[in-house]
Amino acid sequence: MSEMMYRRGPAVEPREIMQEGAAGLRITWGDERTCRYGAAQLRRICPCAKCVNEMTGERVLRPESVPDELTMENVELVGRYALTFRWSDGHETGIYSFRLLRELCEQEAAVSS
Ligand SMILES: [Zn+2]
Repeated sequence: MSEMMYRRGPAVEPREIMQEGAAGLRITWGDERTCRYGAAQLRRICPCAKCVNEMTGERVLRPESVPDELTMENVELVGRYALTFRWSDGHETGIYSFRLLRELCEQEAAVSS
């Protein structure tokens, strides 16, 4: 994969990562944009090998199997590029790159505007 495939710069570098209550996450990016995420929303897009078929890229996890009241028990940095969560359903294998989180936020904005 060429370097051009990767977004770099302040738009994908979080300046601040804050948990908001039991089920919310707020990220302020280096370009001043603030994005908010919900636990169930993030859990449903979990990119790990249990939730997505690695061969086909097909999502195995059914969104309706994730309860809306899911909470975030822990959030940790993975190196300098990603976050990992432990959810109240015990799942903790997803690694969410900052690029993925940023793109999710931009998609949401595109849908709601
Ligand atoms: Zn997963």
